[in-house]
Amino acid sequence: MAATEHDHAPPRFYVSNDVTYIDSRRGKKLLKYQEYTYNFTYHNAKMNTKLWRCPGRTRGCKAKIIVDCHDKVVSGTLEHDHPPPKYICVNGMYILL
Ligand SMILES: [Zn+2]
Repeated sequence: MAATEHDHAPPRFYVSNDVTYIDSRRGKKLLKYQEYTYNFTYHNAKMNTKLWRCPGRTRGCKAKIIVDCHDKVVSGTLEHDHPPPKYICVNGMYILL
């Protein structure tokens, strides 16, 4: 076996295609990652990264996620103090239940 072969899946945290973008009913873009959604908060032009925060922060949730210009997750705090939000998809729009 070549040394570059792994016998396990890559760590999920670094799998870029786990990040998806969804449109909420209000036309706002949300980032969805591992069942949780995040609101766009800040674009770091120097690093070309974007900070997204959990909407639950108003209730004290500290979760956030940082992606680079290729939508690759580079950093973040993925621990939430609440269960994932429940969405239904209607005509390509996500509606929070
Ligand atoms: Zn949260």
